[in-house]
Amino acid sequence: MNETGVLVVGSITADVTAFADRLPGPGETVLGNDFTLVLGGKGANQAVAAAHFGPPTWMVGCVGQDPFGELTADGLRQHGVRTELVRTVPGATGVAHIRVDAHGQNDIVITPLANAQLSRSDVDEALTTLGGEVGVLLLQLEVLSDITAYAAHAGHAAGLTVILDPAPAIPIPEEVWRDIDIVTPNETEATLITGVTVNDAISAEKAAHWFIDRGVGHAIVTLGALGAVAVEATHPLFFEPYVVRAVDTTAAGDAFTGTLGAALAQGLGLPASVRHGMAAGALAVTKPGASPCLPTRQEVLNLMATAQTA
Ligand code: ADP
Repeated sequence: MNETGVLVVGSITADVTAFADRLPGPGETVLGNDFTLVLGGKGANQAVAAAHFGPPTWMVGCVGQDPFGELTADGLRQHGVRTELVRTVPGATGVAHIRVDAHGQNDIVITPLANAQLSRSDVDEALTTLGGEVGVLLLQLEVLSDITAYAAHAGHAAGLTVILDPAPAIPIPEEVWRDIDIVTPNETEATLITGVTVNDAISAEKAAHWFIDRGVGHAIVTLGALGAVAVEATHPLFFEPYVVRAVDTTAAGDAFTGTLGAALAQGLGLPASVRHGMAAGALAVTKPGASPCLPTRQEVLNLMATAQTA
């Protein structure tokens, strides 16, 4: 593939996070000790990961007419993501309301708000505007599944490499799978979607075949600290993990998929792109938070040059 750009269609949120020694029980109030407000949402995180790796990256999504709308759009731009196709809609920007305890355990309420207004015409406009400038389309399941399905179909018809991270694992229409070139579930998502309990490379391969049988080109099941398994019609590839000290596993999957898409857009082959994605995922878990922990291209290349795999 020649060098092209990346188009991300998906969610944008303001991640509002309170830190406390322990999480409150029902009806209880506890005193916290820290607070952060940053760009988040699986779509935005993937876009940041892709842009950090280098190819021109466009986000298609919706933010609201509130201070969080400016905060999130500015955040995307600061990370190098192009935002001409981010639409500002009446009402409030999507919010992820997160609480984290001293052990890194968290609970999260995501309120889609503006994300629910993403429409088919936003997808059409992006594909018309960008024409041949993008070669890879990244999708997740935090916006209405009808829009994800529509984008997958339109992107596939336009000849883009369509990559779906099926997170969170919600039901999607069966016919979507035929439009997906690469699917990137983690263990939990692969288990929920396929019904195969995934906890190692063998079960990951079995689950991957569920996607292949439904028309997906490549299924890459990510296994956290155990690495990843990529399967296409004929044979599986097992990828050993990079060994890192994990402090917060948030956004590893977004780093993986965003960097995988960026590497493919830059013309790398699938195995090399998976390795770059894995290095990005490994680096993401070495720092706390979501978008702030997404690594730079240089950090990814350094890890690949110096790190041992297991
Ligand atoms: P998700 O965040 O969606 O659960 P994973 O945890 O499977 O995704 O992480 C995606 C990829 O990031 C993995 O395939 C792996 O390569 C890398 N990764 C994640 N966690 C670790 C870890 N603790 N050590 C090394 N690599 C990791």
